[in-house]
Amino acid sequence: MKRVLITGGAGFLGSHLCDRFIKEGFHVIAMDNLITGDLKNIEHLFKLPNFEFYHHDVSKFIHVPGELDYILHFASPASPIDYLKIPIQTLKVGSLGIHNCLGLARVKNARVLIASTSEVYGDPNVHPQPEEYWGNVNPVGPRGVYDEAKRFQEAMTMAYHTYHGLETRIVRIFNTYGPRMRLNDGRVLPAFIGQALRGEDLTMFGDGSQTRSFCYVADLVEGIYRLLLSDYANPVNIGNPDEITIKEFGEEIIKLTGTDQKLISLPLPKDDPKQRKPDITKAREILGWEPKVSRAEGLKITYEYFKSLPNDELFKMANHREF
Ligand code: NAD
Ligand code: UDP
Repeated sequence: MKRVLITGGAGFLGSHLCDRFIKEGFHVIAMDNLITGDLKNIEHLFKLPNFEFYHHDVSKFIHVPGELDYILHFASPASPIDYLKIPIQTLKVGSLGIHNCLGLARVKNARVLIASTSEVYGDPNVHPQPEEYWGNVNPVGPRGVYDEAKRFQEAMTMAYHTYHGLETRIVRIFNTYGPRMRLNDGRVLPAFIGQALRGEDLTMFGDGSQTRSFCYVADLVEGIYRLLLSDYANPVNIGNPDEITIKEFGEEIIKLTGTDQKLISLPLPKDDPKQRKPDITKAREILGWEPKVSRAEGLKITYEYFKSLPNDELFKMANHREF
C-alpha cells in the first residue's frame, strides 16, 4: 500500500485530498495544527485503518515513522483575513514548513508536491496568466506575507529538485471553492453565501469590476492527482478559466439563493488583484486535464452544503478585513 503524507490535511483542500487518496487505496497520514482547519473535515476517516492524523505544526521538525511515497504540502493559511491575522506563521509554514517537508522527503525518498498559488503572479500585468509569467508582487504590501512565502516555497522546492535530484511537483492553484470551506474565512464565496443565508447585504469590495475565475474542488483534486503521478517538475496552473467580475458573481449568488438583499460596495483592500484567469494550456497538454464542473453546478452543490450547516455555524460573526 502506497503511503502519502498530506500537510494541512484537516483544511478545505487537504481534507478533499485525504478523501481522494483513501479512495485510491493509499495509506493516508494527515498532519495539521488546526490553526485554520477543522477535525470535522476528516472525522469520517478516523475509523479507517489506513488513515492517521498527526496534530503537529509542520514549521517544527517533522517525524513520521515508516515509509513514505508521497508528501503533499498544503499546510498554510490561505484566505486573506487568515494570513493577515497570522502573518509570521504564514511566512514560517511557507519557508520552514517546506524545508522540513523536503528534508523528510530526502530521508524517505518520497516525491513532494507543493500547493502554490495564482498569488505568485500578484496583481498581474499579463492576462490570462501562463506559468512563464514571473508576476507582479508587492513584497512589503499586506498580501506579501502569503505571496512571498509561496514564491520562496517554489524556489526551495526547485532547488531540492535540481541540487538533490528530489522528485518534486508544483501546482499553482487558482481560486477554488466547494463544501468544507469555512463560512467565516472571508473569501468571497463563503462571505456572499453566508450573508445571503443570514439575510445581510452582500459586501462587494470596490466597484466589483475586479475578476476571478472559480474552480470547483473536485476538478482541482483531479488535476493535482494527475500532476503528482506525472513526470513534470515545473509549475502547472490548475484552475477554471471561466472568468467573472465580482459584481456579476454577487448577482449570481443573489439569484441562486433567492435573497432579497442587495450588493453594497465597501472599500477595495490594498493590492487586491484586478484580474485573474489561468492559462491552462500546460495542464491540458501535459495532464490531459481540464475542468468539468460548471460554475452553476458547483455553486449549487456548495450552496446546499452551506444551507445544511447548523444555525450556530451560520450565525458565527463573519470575520472582517482590516486592510
Ligand atoms: P485551509 O485554511 O482550509 O487549509 C489549510 C490547512 O493548513 C488548515 O487545516 C490549517 O490548520 C493547516 N495549517 C496551517 N499552518 C499549519 C502549520 N504550520 N502546521 C500544520 N498545519 C497547518 O485552506 P485551503 O483553502 O484548504 O488551502 C490549502 C492550501 O492550498 C494552502 O497551502 C493554500 O495556500 C493553497 N491554495 C488554496 C487556494 C484556494 O482557493 N483554496 C488557492 C491557492 C492556493
Ligand atoms: N471580495 C468581495 N467581498 C468579500 C470578500 C471578497 O468583494 O466579502 C472580493 C475581493 O476583494 C477580491 C475577490 O472578491 O477581489 C476575491 O477575494 P477572495 O478573498 O475570495 O480571494 P483572493 O482575493 O485571494 O483571490
